[in-house]
Amino acid sequence: MSESEQEQSDKQKYEFKKVIEKLKGYDGSGTQLVTIYVPEDKQISDVVAHVTQEHSEASNIKSKQTRTNVQDALTSIKDRLRYYGNAPPENGMVLFSGAVDSSGGRTEMVTEVLESPPDPIESFRYHCDSDFLTEPLDEMLADKGLFGLIVLDRREANVGWLKGKRVEPVKSASSLVPGKQRKGGQSAQRFARLRLEAIDNFYQEVAEMANDLFVSRRHEMNGILVGGPSPTKDEFLDGDYLHHELGDNVLGKFDVAYTDESGLYDLVDAASEVLAEHEILQDKEAMEEFFKELHDGDLATYGFGPTRENLIMGSVDRLLISEDLRKDVLTYTCENGHDEYEMVDRSASIDDHDCSRCSETVPAEEAEREDAIDHLMEIAQQRGTETLFISTDFEKGEQLLSAFGGVAGLLRYSTGV
Ligand SMILES: [Zn+2]
Repeated sequence: MSESEQEQSDKQKYEFKKVIEKLKGYDGSGTQLVTIYVPEDKQISDVVAHVTQEHSEASNIKSKQTRTNVQDALTSIKDRLRYYGNAPPENGMVLFSGAVDSSGGRTEMVTEVLESPPDPIESFRYHCDSDFLTEPLDEMLADKGLFGLIVLDRREANVGWLKGKRVEPVKSASSLVPGKQRKGGQSAQRFARLRLEAIDNFYQEVAEMANDLFVSRRHEMNGILVGGPSPTKDEFLDGDYLHHELGDNVLGKFDVAYTDESGLYDLVDAASEVLAEHEILQDKEAMEEFFKELHDGDLATYGFGPTRENLIMGSVDRLLISEDLRKDVLTYTCENGHDEYEMVDRSASIDDHDCSRCSETVPAEEAEREDAIDHLMEIAQQRGTETLFISTDFEKGEQLLSAFGGVAGLLRYSTGV
């Protein structure tokens, strides 16, 4: 993925997250919110046929209100599907429609279509419930990581991937290591030697399997997790069986009872703390750097105004935005063409604004209102600045939101702003 494609997809992800957050906030008073996941290879005409079928089955719903709401939602979805040819967009699409509770005990009809999510939609899904089904999209939008997985004991081994939140088993092997009981007539020494050889051979086989899978992708991988009973996994790691360039990627070893495919899932569970830590690692490093520059250097900027000014100058290397920032930006343009900007709470009402340069008053109704993250990312994109969304799940990340207005930047050079 090129840098600009990466930025494009960051922006798209943010747009998706905004819509999903809105959808999650809705409640339907009955089982009346419809969600449809459409994979890329499903014909739109098939989807329309399915929706038509559901519409006719909905006539059996006892509650008149729910029945009407479900049928209205389905009609609204059918209307939307008319805008498409017979093929869904790349990676598929998700349709949401339903009557949601709005203020004053009334309901309001909402319909949203999300096209071309970051990962392909794998199967067709029709869902009608009291809330919209957003989990599959949440998983796609979660921070992606790529981890190699190995589970082994002396009898069998499995290797695979953890991609985002999804475990993908790839290969398995089983060993010819004899049990501890030797047969009669065999010398104890010889038996022990053969057994050690067999174990060594098996570890080599497992390592080869892992090397085949992992070595070529070692630069994009976030790490390797190794699981199994003691002392197998320790012997395996201490024996340096893995390719030397993979050795440094091992994030940890974990006790796991099973070493079949299910062991890969157990391994991910056992490593959950390490994985959670890893997810915010980049955020932590960026915030460490920010605080260091703030105290001892001059390459930090923070707050909406100064950060925006630096962004416009092109001096920001990395824009740091709190992932919990929920603000708007107001743009006031006076009669003399001066633009001034202000970041405000979403619920804030707008007042008249006096231009600081010429004192002309801009009436409140002429102010333009825009999502603050959209506003900042737009500028960042034009200036080739990378945007990092900083989690609030650690102290310094929480401080970005509470003490620095949720917006900061690491600079390429000092600007004095
Ligand atoms: Zn002015």
